[in-house]
Amino acid sequence: MIQTRGLSKTFGTHTVLHEIDLNIQAGEIVVLLGPSGSGKSTLLRCLNGLEDLSAGSIEVNSIEVTSTMKLKERQQRMLQIRRQTGMVFQQFNLYPHKTALGNVTESLRMVKKLERTHARHVGERMLSRVGLLEKKDQYPSRLSGGQQQRVGIARALAMEPEIILFDEPTSALDPELVGEVLDVMKSLAQEGMTMIVVTHEMKFARQVANKVIFMDEGRIIEQSDPESFFERPATERAQRFLSKVM
Ligand code: ADP
Ligand code: MG
Repeated sequence: MIQTRGLSKTFGTHTVLHEIDLNIQAGEIVVLLGPSGSGKSTLLRCLNGLEDLSAGSIEVNSIEVTSTMKLKERQQRMLQIRRQTGMVFQQFNLYPHKTALGNVTESLRMVKKLERTHARHVGERMLSRVGLLEKKDQYPSRLSGGQQQRVGIARALAMEPEIILFDEPTSALDPELVGEVLDVMKSLAQEGMTMIVVTHEMKFARQVANKVIFMDEGRIIEQSDPESFFERPATERAQRFLSKVM
């Protein structure tokens, strides 16, 4: 479903991703760990076509982008990739002047060009998947952080992505609201969604991930199943990281 070969990303003279090779199968749940600044968000942004690559190639659901392609073609393909990958951010980025349902249907109307009634039906179905159908007419300011993030997930789901990328989806939440968001993510995992999740929720990583990828300084340092990673991290860097976060 996702493959990268020698993916590198440079900002000015600063190389933030160094020759990343990744293989992710359909239905896999990958948890991406690493210290702050190790390149996790940049990698997700490259994978969903928000950020151009400096070298190498990525392939998402059979759409390939390589750094040697002409700019125009690369941009076209990045747009195609963006349409197949949902992204959920730490800051929910909901429109404050739209209801929960309005937030979910916005891109159905604007990007998919669905007519109003059809968009509303899809939107309601997505809100019910995240357990929020009864809040559909509420504005974000009337929802808890956990509910707002669940609307964010419903909004991503509405576009029927093949893959959802989560960038620290629970980091902005009060601790008592984290569980409801993780529960929604677990149910998506059970439904077979392909997911890459950057998170500091180690219990979630252990329980739900099929694969853990540990990054440091723009490189993949370890890649293994959760049990091996948490019980027997192979590198000193991963051991040090785990001793700080566990
Ligand atoms: P993480 O998500 O693991 O904390 P990031 O991917 O956000 O790491 O950042 C990795 C590195 O790339 C950091 O050193 C950060 O300062 C740098 N970086 C990220 N985005 C940009 C940008 N748009 N311009 C310049 N440097 C950036
Ligand atoms: Mg980040």
